[in-house]
Amino acid sequence: MTEHVQNLINGQWVEASGDKLDSRDPANGELLATFRQATNSDVDAAIAAAKAAFPAWKATPQPKRAEIIVRSAEILLKRKEEIAQLMSRENGKPIAEARGDVQEAIDMAFYIAAEGRRGWGHTIPAEMPNKRMYTIRQPLGVCSLITPWNFPIAIPSWKSYPALVMGNTIVFKPAEDTTLLGKRWAEVLLEAGVPAGVFNMVVGHGAPIGDKLVTHPDVRMISFTGSTRTGLGIATKAAPLNKRVSLEMGGKNPVIVWEDGDLELAVNAVMWAGYGTSGQRCTACSRVIVHEKVHDQFLKMLVERAPKLKVGHGSEPDSFFGAIINESQLKKIDEYVQIGVKEGAKLECGGKILKDGAYAKGNFYAATVFSNVKPGMRIEQEEIFGPVISVIKVKSYNEAISVANGVQYGLSAGFISNDVNLCHKASIDLDCGLCYINAGSTGAEVSTPFGGWKNTGNGHREGGPTVIDAFSELKTVVIDYSGKVQKAQIDNN
Ligand code: ADP
Repeated sequence: MTEHVQNLINGQWVEASGDKLDSRDPANGELLATFRQATNSDVDAAIAAAKAAFPAWKATPQPKRAEIIVRSAEILLKRKEEIAQLMSRENGKPIAEARGDVQEAIDMAFYIAAEGRRGWGHTIPAEMPNKRMYTIRQPLGVCSLITPWNFPIAIPSWKSYPALVMGNTIVFKPAEDTTLLGKRWAEVLLEAGVPAGVFNMVVGHGAPIGDKLVTHPDVRMISFTGSTRTGLGIATKAAPLNKRVSLEMGGKNPVIVWEDGDLELAVNAVMWAGYGTSGQRCTACSRVIVHEKVHDQFLKMLVERAPKLKVGHGSEPDSFFGAIINESQLKKIDEYVQIGVKEGAKLECGGKILKDGAYAKGNFYAATVFSNVKPGMRIEQEEIFGPVISVIKVKSYNEAISVANGVQYGLSAGFISNDVNLCHKASIDLDCGLCYINAGSTGAEVSTPFGGWKNTGNGHREGGPTVIDAFSELKTVVIDYSGKVQKAQIDNN
């Protein structure tokens, strides 16, 4: 059944006023939802509602805000299967991964709800007598949360829960390709008891309303996950207005397979990190850097196994990976494969759009492996966001690290070796926000800081205790109970 999605403004579902749009199952083109593009005046209304709701939400005790988050986790637990089933259709990822996506939001809810009763600051000894100092964290105000389609429930949860627990109000824009899941996210928060106006949603493409979401005078903070191009554009517009911007952007994540590494583990880790979610994760492994002594053996194992992975509809339990999110992304992947061939890389397997039989109506791409990939080739440098793995042969540790670090991105990296000293060394030498030893490049948990270096991020972190900093202002409180004017640095010296 096709559903209709509207904006959520001040607790009411309101029709957006722009062009008609729809959301379809990328595996078969089935129409799932219709909606209209939000316009700038819709965004104005959402921001006004968020602004009006802010004082009361800020005044709500932090543990009470957290209780609403716990209730949302209970609702997600009840609706997990239904939302995951929808995700396997609207996003295309296999059902087991879709369940994991919802589970990540549940985990995040419990993790962040605990902050409701923690929220600790520092108590600082003063250099003057009869004086106390401590720090508190306070909300920023209205936050614009702009999210991508690849983790349609998990990523909104990474941003919404910390924003809410710290007392901020929200205008949320889900990705246009997963608008119906955006509605599910809003429904869960509403049902949990998030007051009207505290959480608002506007739907549609980002470009027509992006400037409004970013530059509106009443927006204090923008939290964005998506492409580097869009993210840097947002940062550029927000900078002169001195708005806080938290960015999670592209990656070109390497896994280094060392000469003494467990090759069985390496191949499985690389396939999961490279082909899971059809390679459409920010942390997907797109480069495998292999020591020359094990290169041929590793490549043989990978090329034997990759074509056997089942590509299919997300709802089929044996699908290893599903459809590509949309046609333009599918074309982009294929274009990159042609570029790789022209650059002189050797196409070992895959390298084609799947069109026959069950694939006819969907956006499917075969598991692809390139060998003979050289540092500096475009397929080695640029984010493809598809099931394409490039294998690069190296001779030394220094060469491996230099290839791994030789890109503009720095999100995650893996190092597979049984040399404990080298593993520790690699964890220091790799330029990345997340370093995995004896694992692929994926698998973040909610309690670990998540984010990247270089052109992947701008210093903020999602997940872990650090996300609280991103969504709050720090205040130092100084209480002088001496009854006189005390002069720091002067009186006692
Ligand atoms: P992806 O490759 O993941 O689709 P995008 O950066 O295009 O990356 O999209 C991520 C999110 O950013 C989506 O919600 C999208 O609608 C939104 N977006 C796209 N363009 C803009 C823009 N100019 N300003 C603000 N948000 C945008």
